[in-house]
Amino acid sequence: MQLTGVGGQVSGYSEIRRQMADKIGYDEIVRMLRGASTEIRDSHEMLSKLDSVGGDGDHGTTMVRAMACLEKAVDASGSQDLKSLLYDVGWAILGVDGGATGPLLGTFFMAMSDAAAGVDALDSSGLAVAFEAGLAGVRAQTKAQVGDKTMIDALAPAVDAMRRAAEGGASIIDVLCCAAEAATEGAVSTKNLQARFGRARNIKEKSIGTQDPGATSVSLIFKGFWKGVNTHA
Ligand code: ADP
Ligand code: MG
Repeated sequence: MQLTGVGGQVSGYSEIRRQMADKIGYDEIVRMLRGASTEIRDSHEMLSKLDSVGGDGDHGTTMVRAMACLEKAVDASGSQDLKSLLYDVGWAILGVDGGATGPLLGTFFMAMSDAAAGVDALDSSGLAVAFEAGLAGVRAQTKAQVGDKTMIDALAPAVDAMRRAAEGGASIIDVLCCAAEAATEGAVSTKNLQARFGRARNIKEKSIGTQDPGATSVSLIFKGFWKGVNTHA
């Protein structure tokens, strides 16, 4: 994956102005959310296959159900209000039964929504703050840390990468690209880990050698976020 923000093509004052004005509003957040859904749908069989090694093989179907809820919530949300959009998406996903994913992912979007209260659009720092709030919400639901072979292995580095990119003055697209790269790296890193949470912990060292399904989903979600916003991707 390469940084394909406009930054590579435009230089000088116009680029500095563009980055200063760079914000993500309601319509782009909708595109971002739909991008995640597309990525998950395209890869659901692979996700279930990963889950069949140490889990119950339902992760792909659970994620497709979660994304169907996401899309339904997006379609139903006509208010143009960022906070309620993210809240509605989180609430809908929270209701997806069938495992660990619904509550954790739903919590993520609901916690994110608070950080979007009262604003029409988020700049890079505001976006990073919202994602950090989402991560904090998930962390409040699970004791899993980086290295425990869960979705946290992709989510935590993605959010860290976002914050670092935002602090470095990156544009929205580049912040999302950095997050997607970090999430992918994090998901790949779970291959060599032993699961300490979720069903896969039951197979102990036999979980080593297979990428964690939840971390893989999170990496696809972040890739979709980036692709959804980046119309050149
Ligand atoms: P289930 O295992 O309940 O069927 P899913 O198959 O939908 O749930 O999701 C499995 C994924 O959920 C795992 O790969 C892991 O990333 C994540 N997961 C499971 N339990 C936890 C937990 N306690 N904390 C964080 N993530 C978890
Ligand atoms: Mg499962």
